[in-house]
Amino acid sequence: MLPSPCTLSEARRSRRGNPSKSALRQAQGERGVAAVNEYKKCCTEAEHPATLAFVASNVHRAIVVEKRLCAADIFVFTLALDPPAPLAFRPGQFISVRVGEEPNGSAILRSYSLASSPGRSEIQLLVKRVEAGSGSAWFMNLAVGETVTFTGPMGFFVLDLQHPGDIVFAATGVGIAPVLPMLDEALGRNESGRIVLYWGNRYQRDLFWQRELDARINNPRLQVRRFLSSDDPTWTGERGRITSAIAADLASLLQPTFYLVGNGGMIRDVKQELVARGVDRKRQIRNEVFFE
Ligand SMILES: Cc1cc2nc3c(=O)[nH]c(=O)nc-3n(C[C@H](O)[C@H](O)[C@H](O)COP(=O)(O)OP(=O)(O)OC[C@H]3O[C@@H](n4cnc5c(N)ncnc54)[C@H](O)[C@@H]3O)c2cc1C
Repeated sequence: MLPSPCTLSEARRSRRGNPSKSALRQAQGERGVAAVNEYKKCCTEAEHPATLAFVASNVHRAIVVEKRLCAADIFVFTLALDPPAPLAFRPGQFISVRVGEEPNGSAILRSYSLASSPGRSEIQLLVKRVEAGSGSAWFMNLAVGETVTFTGPMGFFVLDLQHPGDIVFAATGVGIAPVLPMLDEALGRNESGRIVLYWGNRYQRDLFWQRELDARINNPRLQVRRFLSSDDPTWTGERGRITSAIAADLASLLQPTFYLVGNGGMIRDVKQELVARGVDRKRQIRNEVFFE
């Protein structure tokens, strides 16, 4: 069994919801009273009690059935659960993958958002190669037919059960991973607000999932806006950072709920801009920081 601290630390990072009895039992079973206290402490700083997502530290195995380069330094992995069975999760959640072992035998774990929708016995992950990163290097060496061990689902970065108005996604780079299944959940709901995606990248070569995103813009509720921050003369789309675009558009949004994911710097900046303009951080902003 893999160690469980991710369940607790991810819960603390997300700081959402009240602890469910089963989650408490799970923490109790795994790491004793100290773990329960840690879990309670993080969860009692609750901000969004309505959407506590199911988290589990069950260990799963999956076989790599496809590995495909989809943009500069980004691979999409399709993993088939072994034995075959759909993984229960909510769009936006992530898994904790065993990417190696410390010399003392303890597992090295890295978090990856589920980039596919629930209900299938195959899942997809998007993995960006990070300079000198051990987790991404492990993925780069991973071949079709090999086995991945992971725990999950984890995290509380999921859609609210209801939205009073518009939904705004702000993602940078590979932060788009959980957004596609969240978009599909949002589009499938009986809500009438607009859904706007701001996706920021540096270069054109960083872009991917163009067909997947374009296929969804037939839905009149959805607007997809791609921004490049580099000075690329061949780019005919929008330029600059998504932070300023979101701030500029705020007045046109109706009772928006924001989902921010990816680079911690972007998330900090967008939050700061929104809060300075009167957005209620606790009620209207959700976030998932991939890295600082
Ligand atoms: C909840 C959650 C979900 C995540 N989902 C994904 C995902 O879907 N896909 C994915 O590729 N990563 C995702 N990450 C990041 C992932 O867990 C690893 O941190 C990442 O793969 C780098 O791990 P590493 O061991 O290769 O590098 P590390 O040794 O952990 O990090 C090396 C350096 O790279 C920086 N870094 C990490 N990620 C990036 C990045 N994307 N771009 C630029 N610099 C980076 C780190 O801040 C650090 O300075 C997620 C992280 C969290 C917390």
